[in-house]
Amino acid sequence: MIILSVNAGSSSLKFTGFEMPSEDILISGVFERIGIDNSFYTIKLNGEKIRKEKSLPDHKVAFQILIDELTNNKIVSSLDEIKGIGHRIVQGGAYFNKTEIATDEVIEKIEELSSLAPLHNPAAIIGIKAAKDVMPNALQTVVFDTAFHQTMKEEEFMYAVPYTWYKEFGIRKYGAHGTSHKYVSQRMNEILGRMDTKLITCHIGNGASICAIENGKCVDTSMGLTPNAGLIMGSRCGDMDATVVTYAMEKTGMSPKEMNDVLNKQSGLLGISGISNDSRDIEDGIKNGNERCLLAQNMYVKRIVEYIAKYYVLLGGCDAIIFTAGVGENSVMTRKQVLDKLAILGIKVDNEANEVRGIEQKITTDDSKIPAYIIPTNEELMIAKDTYSLVLQG
Ligand code: ADP
Repeated sequence: MIILSVNAGSSSLKFTGFEMPSEDILISGVFERIGIDNSFYTIKLNGEKIRKEKSLPDHKVAFQILIDELTNNKIVSSLDEIKGIGHRIVQGGAYFNKTEIATDEVIEKIEELSSLAPLHNPAAIIGIKAAKDVMPNALQTVVFDTAFHQTMKEEEFMYAVPYTWYKEFGIRKYGAHGTSHKYVSQRMNEILGRMDTKLITCHIGNGASICAIENGKCVDTSMGLTPNAGLIMGSRCGDMDATVVTYAMEKTGMSPKEMNDVLNKQSGLLGISGISNDSRDIEDGIKNGNERCLLAQNMYVKRIVEYIAKYYVLLGGCDAIIFTAGVGENSVMTRKQVLDKLAILGIKVDNEANEVRGIEQKITTDDSKIPAYIIPTNEELMIAKDTYSLVLQG
């Protein structure tokens, strides 16, 4: 059977079609500039990438074109072969701790949570409605980035602000990247051959978060009410003294929205280096002697190390550290700097093994007290797997 994994943005729609249970990718691609001029889509099929300019007035048209591509390329002979569509949802609040069927009631709750993810949740709802219109017989599911973190205890997810804010406004830690942390931790358990593990998973991409996982369950994670908590990221500041915000607002006269923009889009590696949010540019800057790139990288690495150290203590040990996402999978330098700073825990980098990008690999020596691995993430597959199991449950 075919399961589609989709991720709808306000003007984009990413998709991957899986044959299940074999997990083979049949097709993948993205529709871009939906509802804007010069829209187009790219698809990857049989190892070939094709780009087509096409008017895309809305997400429904995008789904219709996707169906046409599936039939024209003989991936399906009838629409009914697509049994399930899993939609990625950024914010599931405290309502959802697992993947659910996208009933009207569930969609209403996702809508209700839009104030916590104003760019993402409304776009996802548009995607779900369009998919339901075009493929009414497929099971539509919703897979939440926050669901995996719902096992956190109160003492981990509460902020030390007036308790009424939690009750009235739902202000607490929800985390993010849960689908990725779940995927790589499950894969790690497969490699280790057991489930009763203590893992620290580092999803370091442009957005970045770390998760402490015990026996397959999230104990704590670095992102918070929103993704702008924890690590220093490409353009997000992560943790800092909260008073910086009010103080800087008084000094600059910025509105809450303007301040939010600066903290999310002009901070992090970009804010410190003044050059770029991309760690490749920061590495190049360091090679060219740029002091601010060096400072940005040192701060970035220090924060990752601090989180790994505190999760090591929280978990009472650690069976493996996992690196994933753009930087985690590709930056030889960042991985080495992080692990070298953890030498006190008996961690020893295997420099030769670490010299790789984007593949599953152990990157520590055999006598390292804690092994570290690169495990490429695959959120699309995780979404498809969850959807497949709900389809099987009928
Ligand atoms: P997101 O999904 O959060 O947008 P990704 O997980 O795709 O981010 O990661 C993107 C980031 O990965 C880029 O901004 C870049 O910093 C980093 N990256 C990708 N390739 C490399 C590389 N070869 N070396 C270092 N960093 C890399």
